[in-house]
Amino acid sequence: MRMRGAGLLAALVAAVACESPSESADLVLRGGVVRTMEATDSPATAIAVQGGRIAYVGDDEGAARWIGATTDIIELGGRLVLPGFHDTHVHALDGGVAAGDCDLRPATSRTEITRAVGACAARAGPAPWVRGGGYDPTIFAGGEPPRELLDSLIPDRPAYFTDATEHAGWVNSRALAVAGIDADTPDPGAGGVIVRRDDGTPQGTLREGAMELVARHLPERTDAELAEGLTRGLAMAASLGVTTLHEAAADERTIRAYAEAEGEGRLTARARLFVLAEQERGTAQAQEVAALRDRYGGRLARVAGAKVFLDGVLEGGTAALLEPYGDRPGWLGELRWPAPDSLATLVAGLESAGMAVHFHAIGDRAVRAALDAVERAHAVSGGPPARHVVAHVQLAERRDLPRFGALGVVVSFQPLWAQRDAYIVDLTEPRLGDERSGRLYPIRSLLAAGAVLAAGSDWPVTTMDPLDAIEVAVTRRHELAEPGEAWIPSERLSVDEAVRAYTIGGAYAAGLEDRTGTITVERSADLVVLDRDIFVIEPTEISDARVDLTVFEGRVVYRRPSS
Ligand SMILES: [Zn+2]
Repeated sequence: MRMRGAGLLAALVAAVACESPSESADLVLRGGVVRTMEATDSPATAIAVQGGRIAYVGDDEGAARWIGATTDIIELGGRLVLPGFHDTHVHALDGGVAAGDCDLRPATSRTEITRAVGACAARAGPAPWVRGGGYDPTIFAGGEPPRELLDSLIPDRPAYFTDATEHAGWVNSRALAVAGIDADTPDPGAGGVIVRRDDGTPQGTLREGAMELVARHLPERTDAELAEGLTRGLAMAASLGVTTLHEAAADERTIRAYAEAEGEGRLTARARLFVLAEQERGTAQAQEVAALRDRYGGRLARVAGAKVFLDGVLEGGTAALLEPYGDRPGWLGELRWPAPDSLATLVAGLESAGMAVHFHAIGDRAVRAALDAVERAHAVSGGPPARHVVAHVQLAERRDLPRFGALGVVVSFQPLWAQRDAYIVDLTEPRLGDERSGRLYPIRSLLAAGAVLAAGSDWPVTTMDPLDAIEVAVTRRHELAEPGEAWIPSERLSVDEAVRAYTIGGAYAAGLEDRTGTITVERSADLVVLDRDIFVIEPTEISDARVDLTVFEGRVVYRRPSS
């Protein structure tokens, strides 16, 4: 039945109450190509959405009976609909905050960096520090920009910039003085390195734990800055079709910012938050993380477990390797959580509280340490269904690959990184040598060995755009590269496999596979509409596709202005 007119409100309420809830949809999308990403992907052209959930998937004719007087109709005109993307490793809040600092990501040369830093210094006003990030370390010899360059641009106050990997920082002499770092200061351990000249004086680059020596003197962010940052991060996610994200390093202030945003109805994506845990603070952190989850609750944004850094990055020589670095005899890098007993205890503690670990592991020794910890925790806990995730997995021993599937550990890849760019050519291959360089980012090998693949961006380290990442997963080449050979072509994914990693694989990583990740009746109406069908165009054109529309729980949260 169809009721019209405001005067009939009471009758309408009564009528709706006694009708089947499937009477009419809030939203119908029709005339498109709907790829459900279900195990058997049956062709569909239309979707009906009701009460935030998918009510119907099928053809346009079937969708017609869901259309009522108040139904919004979106004519797809042949465009592609996919489940909303899941970014399973992102720093949405911190990235959004950093986007308000001095952003060096657009700078592609030393000259441009110099100009950008100078401009930021000029507009910093009375701020006690100049801070920013995103500089491309490959622009500088060894990835190490000198403090003298920063001194010449910012002589009057301390300055702190992180590089695009977030695993190294560049500081001026004032910042070193504030932190009390000089030739006599020892490296701080936990992989931290104060890069030095031959006479021992600090060069201006700090790696890993050494960054904190300066960073802890930075003025604390205000609550307003965090809220603004989250808003920026969420807007970025919505514009790229991301409807679920895993915050890869949260603290209580992050959790509070999400909780407030959820309370005010400002969340345009679901979030799973992983609280940073460190060896120095002990295994009781499992209980502390559980307490944070219980304190803040949240339907959309929830604490899901702990984040553990097991090593650094290959580019900086700080990833933990099983065999020494080729350019530094005997050096294996350092594990950032070197005590296997306490790590296994932490994992078991989280499992028994129904939570998971999100590991950062780049080198093969760090990857093995993560798998060992999960294996030992399972022996204690009996192997409960925690969805532990190992992020990055840039280098892994072949015999460790089947352990992911066997232990139920999900891989969160950053497919965008699986290309032979300057990070690989200039900073990684010389450190690893040919054999290990020839098996970096073993994405397809892991899939073949039974691992569940999820995907993520690590934004703001690199772009949050899933389409850029899917293209590289499929081509193993930079989107602007001249046509040519794929890098380690045996590790390429199909478009279908890459999209699965970004949808149902991500949902599985969060234990949400029965609620989102596919376009299925009764699941959350989390959808993305692309301007073209990336399954049929040339793989090198996938990154040219645009997100026209993002729907989260049935609500349009992004619409491309010209679409
Ligand atoms: Zn990260």
